[in-house]
Amino acid sequence: MISGSGAGMSVDKETLRRKYREERDKRLRPDGNDQYLRLTGRLASYLDDPYTPRTEREPRTDHVTVAFVGGGFAGLVTGARLKEAGVDDVRVIDKGGDFGGTWYWNRYPGAQCDTASYVYMPLLEETGHMPTEKYAHGPEILEHCRRIGERYGLYDHALFHTEVQDLRWDESRSRWRIRTDRGDDFTATFVALGIGPLHVPKLPGIPGIESFRGHSFHTSRWDYAYTGGDPSGAPLDRLAGKRVAIIGTGATAVQAVPHLARACAELYVFQRTPSSVDVRDNRPTDPQWFAEIAQPGWQQRWLTNFAANQSGAMPDEDLVMDGWTDIAGRVRAKIQALPREERSLERMLAAFEDCDFEKMAEIRARVDAVVSDPETAQRLKAWYRQLCKRPCFHDEYLQAFNLPGTHLVDTDGKGVQRLTETGVVAAGREYEVDCVIYASGFEVGTTWTRRAGFDLTGRDGVRLSEHWAEGMRSLHGIHAHGFPNAFLVQQAQGANLISNIPHNLTESGRTIAAVVEHALAHGYREVEVSEQAEEAWVELLRSGAGRILGSPDCTPGYYNNEGHAPGPATRLLVGHPHGAMAYFAHLDRWRESGTFEGLEFRA
Ligand code: NDP
Repeated sequence: MISGSGAGMSVDKETLRRKYREERDKRLRPDGNDQYLRLTGRLASYLDDPYTPRTEREPRTDHVTVAFVGGGFAGLVTGARLKEAGVDDVRVIDKGGDFGGTWYWNRYPGAQCDTASYVYMPLLEETGHMPTEKYAHGPEILEHCRRIGERYGLYDHALFHTEVQDLRWDESRSRWRIRTDRGDDFTATFVALGIGPLHVPKLPGIPGIESFRGHSFHTSRWDYAYTGGDPSGAPLDRLAGKRVAIIGTGATAVQAVPHLARACAELYVFQRTPSSVDVRDNRPTDPQWFAEIAQPGWQQRWLTNFAANQSGAMPDEDLVMDGWTDIAGRVRAKIQALPREERSLERMLAAFEDCDFEKMAEIRARVDAVVSDPETAQRLKAWYRQLCKRPCFHDEYLQAFNLPGTHLVDTDGKGVQRLTETGVVAAGREYEVDCVIYASGFEVGTTWTRRAGFDLTGRDGVRLSEHWAEGMRSLHGIHAHGFPNAFLVQQAQGANLISNIPHNLTESGRTIAAVVEHALAHGYREVEVSEQAEEAWVELLRSGAGRILGSPDCTPGYYNNEGHAPGPATRLLVGHPHGAMAYFAHLDRWRESGTFEGLEFRA
């Protein structure tokens, strides 16, 4: 038994462990990732862009210095750093109609960042933008993406509503050949890929999904023409009198449900696994406070401080102070209370578990405090460790279940059973509705090439899918052997910082710009990581404790490959064995040395 802090509660650890196991077992299913439907064939219409009309244009057949696949934060921060390094012709290619990536597509009502804007929104210092809130809403973040695009001239060469179909290394000319679904066939000296981890929407693979005759859409293609309202939170007035089902209760649903609850006559929230929903505590940014903190170098200081708080580096101050840093602060306090000689890995892990139990007990107590109906409250409680699933933070989600028209349909871990022409069936009962909204997430546990929609063909015709057949291999998560002049922008095999993905991207962007600048300045035609350097990096990664997220003890979800043993696609998606801070420090030294050890530059 341990005593909890704050809420003054006590926790019986053995009982909790048993309860967590029971809840996990209830949800395990043999089909894992195969339970989901890809949006192909007739379902492909779910992917249509509801936001920007597609315009015709002539195919491109020219040459650029850098082509970047993906116009989200990855493309924007890398493009910005390349521009600063003097590369004028950076061509960003994106399937969306503008910059923004996830913020282009996810315009559902209530969308906002879950990590404080001051560290989440990139290039604030460079653009001089002050986030209006601690957790900015979607329209402001999308606007910021456009601001970066404008500020760095990235619109000049950008190709939107364009999907890359083939990327092929042309050995004879030391350049990449890029072909797209718009008939483009151009070349680039360098390519960089920042496709994002969550951009292929998926649907639950349930019978009858194509037979429903009412209206339906995925949250990443919100149909405001049907619901009324807009992304800035205007009431969804066309839902008045309507019966709406939302399937899924992950981070997206948690943000959208309060808006739906206020608008619909009847809202049915279909839940398979409850999310943990901690306090949000959003507030407007005080301009005077911001002016005080926004001194030269401020955003990098904040980024470093947030990462340090997340990764056990134990800094003395916590600038961001939110739900993400709270748990880290508690673990730190518990470990610091241990005599130095007792700080073994085992004791530290035990301290982590104690803090987690306390935290989750508080989150469950919050459900009781907020939700009036005790049975609904009971069903909204999450029984797993906080990082088993994506933690959520919201001050209106639980409250929405107190509205008379909002109904939680808990499926006790089984999920919805099927759709009929008129409604949704769960736990043997049919709920007739006018509209079904799928908040069912995105493909995660599948291979990189499947999610990208194209493969890379590198030196000697070797494909990236072949190179990664047994799992990802890279140096720093950025360079892959056999793929000269190509770079990856993502978090795995680098910092792997999950609470602030943009920090990973910013560092990669800076690194890529430094490498490209070096190659161009010295007239090198090619740069490629050596086989040995890649192997040494993968070995270093293997020496670590493995994946920080997704223990098999956890309830299934995309963090743990739906409860199945990690396949090749996910096995090596790990970070630096000594944590994000060690990675960033290593990368800083590596970049600044100017020798870029492990890379081979060829004239
Ligand atoms: P998720 O994958 O997190 O959630 C999908 C939901 O659909 C889950 O609740 C899942 O249940 C449910 N589901 C799947 N199949 C069925 C079924 N057959 N019956 C009933 N329910 C079903 O997707 P989200 O879009 O919510 O979030 C994806 C990720 O995007 C987040 O984890 C986060 O990383 C990111 N995100 C970030 C935000 C931010 O930073 N502001 C906001 C929103 C999302 P189960 O849990 O049982 O699998």
